[in-house]
Amino acid sequence: MFKRARSFGLFSVLTLAVVTLLSLVLLNTIRFDGSIRAIFDREQGLYDQSMPTRSQSYWLEALTLISQFDSTVDSDEARQKILERIDLAYAYLNVGRYLDSYSCTEDALNAMLQLRNEVERQQLEATRYKLWHDVFSCYAEVQADQEELKAHTITHALDVSHRNQFWMNFGISVTFALGVILWLMTEYHDRRHNREIKERLAWQTRALRDHLTSTYNRLALQQRLEELAEQWSKKKIKSAAVIFYDLDYFKAYNDTFGHVAGDEALRRVAEAVNQLLTLRENHFRFGGEEFFIILDSGQSKDEVIEIGEQIIKAVRQLKISNPASETGYLTVSLGIYCLEEDAYTSDELIQKADELLYSAKNSGRNCAIDCHS
Ligand code: GH3
Ligand code: MG
Ligand code: MG
Repeated sequence: MFKRARSFGLFSVLTLAVVTLLSLVLLNTIRFDGSIRAIFDREQGLYDQSMPTRSQSYWLEALTLISQFDSTVDSDEARQKILERIDLAYAYLNVGRYLDSYSCTEDALNAMLQLRNEVERQQLEATRYKLWHDVFSCYAEVQADQEELKAHTITHALDVSHRNQFWMNFGISVTFALGVILWLMTEYHDRRHNREIKERLAWQTRALRDHLTSTYNRLALQQRLEELAEQWSKKKIKSAAVIFYDLDYFKAYNDTFGHVAGDEALRRVAEAVNQLLTLRENHFRFGGEEFFIILDSGQSKDEVIEIGEQIIKAVRQLKISNPASETGYLTVSLGIYCLEEDAYTSDELIQKADELLYSAKNSGRNCAIDCHS
């Protein structure tokens, strides 16, 4: 359960880190994309920079055709071709942006118009070179400026990219650091919580244990008997029995060998009985040299009586010398009560088993009196 809580904590931290990182990447993409777009939109030069170049190529074509033009041979068709090239060159340069940004554009356009007139009127020789010069110097100016604009735009885009990259790295580092801190906090909290639970469990276990023997104490017996009584009354279990056993002539044993030896004998008897039980949690020290056993794991009456006989045998086989006993060894007497009525209180269960134990003592000890007897 604690492991699950810890995995959940770690899972939350990881999810938080991943979500934050993804958000950062998304934000960065939007920001970067937006800023790059803004640059190109604002500058509005790079997309159209081929227009003066195109204009220039038509202009060159027009001039080539003019230089090859021979008025004595060539027809109107050849002139028309020249005019078309000039018109195209004119159209590609006659753009508001160039007119606004470069004063030479207007002169170049005028020069184109002038050349056009000359071509139309067949007066080519006179001003041809002057017109060429005006237009070419304008192309050079526009193109040089466009190149500069391009370089500036790219540099600016790179700056923006570097800035974004920096913030991205910063964000990743902060998220990572936060993730680690959160993880450490969760880990610390979980460990402390687990330690507290372990300590509490240890204290609880100690509070329910008998410190001399390896059995549970009277408090634990009381709790378990109440549970048993409740389950029995609700018919949650079909068969159950309780065993009350007591060491025979134990006072005499103590008087003969001393209380330290008596303690050791109690320990050995309790351990021998423990060995016979599948659930040690059901073995209790009632008080003094008296013990109690709850059998509620579905054992039949015969099985319960068999366990009782095994207990008598196991204690006898310990061969703990007790001169007061008829056998010469330490023995136990048992009262075995198999539950029958519909309801009991915990005290009634003790009482029933105690009465049978009393009978066993009266029957000469070292024996079991059970519900069948
Ligand atoms: P019976 O066969 O009728 O049970 O006789 P008994 O002598 O066993 O019973 P009695 O009640 O007269 O004496 C019980 C003795 O158990 C008295 C006491 O000295 C001893 N005893 C109880 N608790 C402890 C303990 O923790 N350690 C030791 N060494 N002796 C204990
Ligand atoms: Mg006794
Ligand atoms: Mg007793």
